[in-house]
Amino acid sequence: MSQEKGPYIPYGKQHICQEDIDAVVDVLTSDFLTQGPKVPLFEQLVAQHSQVKYACAANSATSALHIACLALGVTKGDVVWTSPISFVASSNCALYCGADVDFVDVESNTGLMSVKALSRKLAIAKQSNNLPKVVIPVHLAGHSCDMEAIDKLAKKYQFKIIEDASHGIGGQYKDRPIGNCQYCDISIFSFHPVKIITSAEGGMALTSDESLYNKMRLFVSHGVTRENLAPEHSNQAWYYEQQTLGFNYRMSELHAALGVNQLSKLIDFVARRNKLADSYLEKIAKDRVLSKELHSITPSNECYSAYHLFVIQLNKPEKRLTVFNQLRANGIGVNVHYIPICNQPYYRELGFKPSDFPNAQSYYESAITLPLHPSLSLQEQDKILKVIRESL
Ligand SMILES: *Cc1c(COP(=O)(O)O)cnc(C)c1O
Repeated sequence: MSQEKGPYIPYGKQHICQEDIDAVVDVLTSDFLTQGPKVPLFEQLVAQHSQVKYACAANSATSALHIACLALGVTKGDVVWTSPISFVASSNCALYCGADVDFVDVESNTGLMSVKALSRKLAIAKQSNNLPKVVIPVHLAGHSCDMEAIDKLAKKYQFKIIEDASHGIGGQYKDRPIGNCQYCDISIFSFHPVKIITSAEGGMALTSDESLYNKMRLFVSHGVTRENLAPEHSNQAWYYEQQTLGFNYRMSELHAALGVNQLSKLIDFVARRNKLADSYLEKIAKDRVLSKELHSITPSNECYSAYHLFVIQLNKPEKRLTVFNQLRANGIGVNVHYIPICNQPYYRELGFKPSDFPNAQSYYESAITLPLHPSLSLQEQDKILKVIRESL
């Protein structure tokens, strides 16, 4: 192919402005590098944006998922279900607690947890007295799962819900912010640099339940507190108490300051991502070859997606390797989201096989994630689609 090489186009990346830099530098010269005012401010602003009462920041979404499971009492002997089409953190969090993990197959056209598969699996689990304690749906690509239906099943079968909304901040479901906890007990955001907004590393767990919030606060910081202590300690300013076995999962002030400034750009970032996604969809629909050879993963009518990822699926999966390699050879940083978690060697050791979740397997085999981030240009989009067309 006689393609101009040009600069590398990653599938996702952060968008940093001078104000982000200034915000971090200001913290460096302030009194607090950790445990100061920026983390509570970031928590308050994310809670407000998401229309949820409480938010607990952590040093990653992985840590946030872990403390969410702990707050819901997940422990040895419990079972937690999640989607196989996700990052490994969505299920590792349950293993950290000593629980067993199982997966619910996805819809083959969206990669989202299938309500039908969930419903069927619950009916069987009830008969064998092996119902999950927690189910973790994942809003893949920023497209919301059918949370209303999943919540109905939660009430029927008495399980708790953690929404892994790592891809979802800035999106909406049924005209409310994704992660708003109307249909779950705890929701999780990630602020890794490839996600919608970033704090470099960082995550947050949101809930409208005060008692879950208090538990997460303890778990995020050693299980130690200085609040609500017995009256005999009220005049002892040095006094603190370890009430449970927690971790040091705290977010630093530097990370929170970056997060606060990024949050002020969230609406613009998501609008830009939607504009670029619409442009991809339009260009693909208009192209005779592309519209015949592939289709795109899009959100349901009830969802305004944060569009963390733009995923296409090749109608002939056997062409994926060639297309993928041609894109990479042309400096286009495509990726695949995700290799089913159950396919990972560690999970195979636990007894899972790719054939256990056939929709997840077929979704995986035909998927390619195309570049999508706020600084992607329409010209770059044209180049990406041209390489795909030529390699097909
Ligand atoms: C990125 C991601 C995580 C983990 O986020 P970190 O902040 O990197 O720990 C968890 N779940 C999903 C679906 C993710 O995409």
